[in-house]
Amino acid sequence: MRISELLRKDGVTLSLEVFPPKTSEKYTETAAAALKIAALKPAFMSVTYGAGGGTGEFTASIAAEIQNQFGVPTLAHLTCVSSDRAHVRRMLETYREKGIENLLALRGDLPPDGRISTDYRYAVDLIRDIRENGDFCLGGACYPEGHIECAHKAEDLTHLKEKVDAGLDFLTTQLFFNNDVFYNFMYRAREKGILVPVIAGIMPITNARLLSRSAAMSGTDVPQRFRAIVDCFGGSPAAMKQAGIIYAAEQIIDLLANGIRHIHVYTMNKPDVAAGIMSALSGIL
Ligand code: FAD
Repeated sequence: MRISELLRKDGVTLSLEVFPPKTSEKYTETAAAALKIAALKPAFMSVTYGAGGGTGEFTASIAAEIQNQFGVPTLAHLTCVSSDRAHVRRMLETYREKGIENLLALRGDLPPDGRISTDYRYAVDLIRDIRENGDFCLGGACYPEGHIECAHKAEDLTHLKEKVDAGLDFLTTQLFFNNDVFYNFMYRAREKGILVPVIAGIMPITNARLLSRSAAMSGTDVPQRFRAIVDCFGGSPAAMKQAGIIYAAEQIIDLLANGIRHIHVYTMNKPDVAAGIMSALSGIL
């Protein structure tokens, strides 16, 4: 099923995410975690694409297993900054063969050696290429606080508008911990004429290390209220997990109460965290 169709329906959608293994030895374990998450029957599941693109086959296989075993639609990610056109064509063919209709088209993080593709510089180049080479439902990434490499939020929004105009059906946000940042972004995006559905991305922080890593990579603001929670409970894995799930569930409840209908949870291959979020929202979704 196309995600654009799901988003057009009345009602709320909650989607969950997994990432592929780095090596084939880890494939079985990762697929098992992904299938446990799929058993929770989210609206759809995202399967990320390893930085550098070397594990794209795993992304495709895990997405296909989720669809075939649980009938949960999947959103397979695809990055371009370390790829050439031939590799992207092969990945599109693989996704098509496996019955995957939805793609998240991304640039990808810049490789540490600085060597980037001569075929694709930005996600917009990939979006245009996919639009010319297949009939996929296409999503893209957006950054409520501005992308970390972009000095000005207004410029980032101009580039986002270019991506949407190139043919995106929807957007998914980077994680954020302060809902006001998201509401402000939505106002600016709509003013700019970005009218596609925007899925709010929420990450349950279940250990202090994950918070430092995620905040450093994304540049996202960590509100004092949340910092205090991590300072207090970060030393106890069980307490931090529960506190992280509750903080994320509260963020989601506030989003729903403010009319946001589409939520994506970065569940990071953790079925227990995914189940905790679903349970905290039972009766609400
Ligand atoms: P782009 O939209 O190309 O933007 C990158 C930067 O370039 C921005 O600063 C933008 O303002 C700027 N820019 C864009 N167009 C122009 C232009 N024409 N001229 C000048 N500057 C321009 N990474 C992975 O490796 N695998 C994944 O599966 C993955 N999934 C993700 C899912 C989501 C929802 C999000 C938010 C991120 C994900 N990422 C993933 C991380 C993503 O690859 C990085 O954030 C990357 O740095 C930017 O990707 P993008 O597609 O947003 O890039």
